[in-house]
Amino acid sequence: MADEQVSLFGEDPAARAAALRKEIEHHSYQYYALDNPTISDAAFDSLMRELRELEAAHPELVDPSSPTQRVGGYVGEQFAPVVHEQRMYSLDNAMDLDELDAWMERTAEACGGTLPPLCCELKIDGSSIALTYEDGVLLRAATRGDGTTGEDVTVNMRTVRDVPLRLREGALAAITPGVDSLELRGEVYMPKKSFELLNAAAVSEGRQPFANPRNAAAGSLRQKDPAITQMRDLSTFMYAIADDRSLEVTGQWELLQWLREAGFHVNPDVKLCETAAEVRAFCEACLERRESLPYEIDGVVVKVNEFARQRAMGFTSRAPRWAIAFKFPPEEKTTLLRDITVQVGRTGALTPVAELEPVVVAGSTVARATLHNLDEVHRKDVRIGDTVIVRKAGDVIPEVLGPVLSLRSPEARVWEMPSLCPSCGSPVVRDEGEVAFRCISIDCPAQALERLLHWASRGALDIDGMGEEIVSRLVESGRLADVADYYSLTEDELASLNMGRVNKEGEPIRLGHTMGKKLVAAIEASKGRSFARVLFGLGIRHVGKTTAELIADAFPSMDALMAAGEDQLAEVHGVGPKMAHGIWLFFRTPDNLPVIDRLRAAGVTMAAETLVPGEEVPQVLAGLTFVLTGTLVNSGMTRDEAGARLKAMGAKVSGSVSKKTSFVVAGESAGSKYDKAVSLGVPVLDEAQLLHLLETGEVPREV
Ligand code: AMP
Repeated sequence: MADEQVSLFGEDPAARAAALRKEIEHHSYQYYALDNPTISDAAFDSLMRELRELEAAHPELVDPSSPTQRVGGYVGEQFAPVVHEQRMYSLDNAMDLDELDAWMERTAEACGGTLPPLCCELKIDGSSIALTYEDGVLLRAATRGDGTTGEDVTVNMRTVRDVPLRLREGALAAITPGVDSLELRGEVYMPKKSFELLNAAAVSEGRQPFANPRNAAAGSLRQKDPAITQMRDLSTFMYAIADDRSLEVTGQWELLQWLREAGFHVNPDVKLCETAAEVRAFCEACLERRESLPYEIDGVVVKVNEFARQRAMGFTSRAPRWAIAFKFPPEEKTTLLRDITVQVGRTGALTPVAELEPVVVAGSTVARATLHNLDEVHRKDVRIGDTVIVRKAGDVIPEVLGPVLSLRSPEARVWEMPSLCPSCGSPVVRDEGEVAFRCISIDCPAQALERLLHWASRGALDIDGMGEEIVSRLVESGRLADVADYYSLTEDELASLNMGRVNKEGEPIRLGHTMGKKLVAAIEASKGRSFARVLFGLGIRHVGKTTAELIADAFPSMDALMAAGEDQLAEVHGVGPKMAHGIWLFFRTPDNLPVIDRLRAAGVTMAAETLVPGEEVPQVLAGLTFVLTGTLVNSGMTRDEAGARLKAMGAKVSGSVSKKTSFVVAGESAGSKYDKAVSLGVPVLDEAQLLHLLETGEVPREV
């Protein structure tokens, strides 16, 4: 039998496999690195098929760097942490050409008065990646994480087709003698088209779409199943090396040429500039071309070209001094304002929503945007039928900036708030001195739906999978009227829930047992959430997340809180008289009390975790104030959980940075709070330092 198979592939299968791999690697290089395929896709597939068959017949020939070995292995429950040998820095930003000029002046000064050659590249809007090759073979891929520690995403990155599993032979000669391991860095991104398709599929399957291609790339990279990552159509652009001394190249420009030779996908839009005017012209030209590129960019990165000069300039605590990101302004688009509709929130507040002719802004389709309130609609003077300017605030939330007056048609209509609630038809009121209009009916179905969704939302009781479609169906079926009803839902009831659609045979589609089981488990898990989350989840007017935590600290049980008078409530730091009245009233509203009793009976948390006497956590952090920013990626803790642990050790946790802040804890993608900490000289801890602190209680002396 074995002999027969050998004969299928000629006399020497090992030689044939080697020849096929070489051929396939050559064509991958032509396709991905040079963008110049020289054979058809079908011919390429046929080579791959032959190699796959050959390896199936001769498993002893399989080699992890074979082009057939992209998907395999599995990712455990969590991605293993990877400590970066050389820190992965962020970049300082220049928000306009003046700031860019100022950086170039500083750079010229640092280089003895003359501007050194600068290498200008596109700033790809994706996720940073570090690829380690040992003896020329891909060994590991890691995310940036907090810059010090990232996550091991090797199995997933292997599925990205333009990542070479092995460096090209011809490029190895430039590796410094004695160096056997190279760490190369770049960006993994999702092309605009693939992002649109992915989001369209998510919407049609009732899943939440990604906000932008950057999030989609990061999310796709962190899949537990590498086969899903492979389907997501990720690409890379490589542009850096962790330690430039491991290669015999002297500057960034040469490095890019080498990366291409080694088989990597390198962005072709690069320019080595000699003067400030050339740099500015490159930035302006890129801004012009931004939309026509098939991937998202958010700026231009300008780097001092020569490595020796880079080394002389060094780094700040956060970023290299030898590079700057010239950031593009947020992308703006014009589109038609078709209508303004009204959304009823859980407290009855009526919010006008712009219904737009769908338009792609910063990578994703925008069809709706909140207009906040009536005053805002009038202040911006947007009218139905106007051509309006749309952009995404922070590249995520769509925003209507205003109308293009010169394009206003005489038919454009001024919008007014309806006098009746669009959900229940009750009269709409506006409290004196308030901007919001409100439906005050207690039976308004839109409010009930929003309250139920709020209870299940991530910041509140976090019932995973309980989304709008399912909750709406449960409400319609009469099975869910208030938040306590969640706790009597059974798996059978959920499994048989009619989803209001029919299959090909015309039978109603039901939720099914798999989902039913999952939801029952999620509901069960929600019972153990903290008391503060329960308070937040109840949707008491004016009580947001932070207030709920303050109240839970001051009144650590439901009984204590319900017994509190308005004055006592108002004494809590951060709770004003208006809020105190709202809380007091909530617990005196007859309809609410049975709901609380039923939640208690179901086993939902009704008190803050108190410590067993004698087991008290030492208050080693008393007197210190912490601010948490960014996402914690390695510890599996949310920011809230980390905050709770800090508080348990006596610290104060605040939402904003000031001179009085003792430490800022910066996770991944930390933003303005980080910048403020740096400018005020407040010490910054990364996630690893936070964990050390939580475990040992030792406050770092030097950061
Ligand atoms: P930011 O995250 O805004 O601080 O920007 C820094 C990030 O830009 C880096 O961590 C890289 O992931 C990313 N980046 C994208 N394109 C480039 C490029 N051509 N050179 C350097 N960094 C880049």
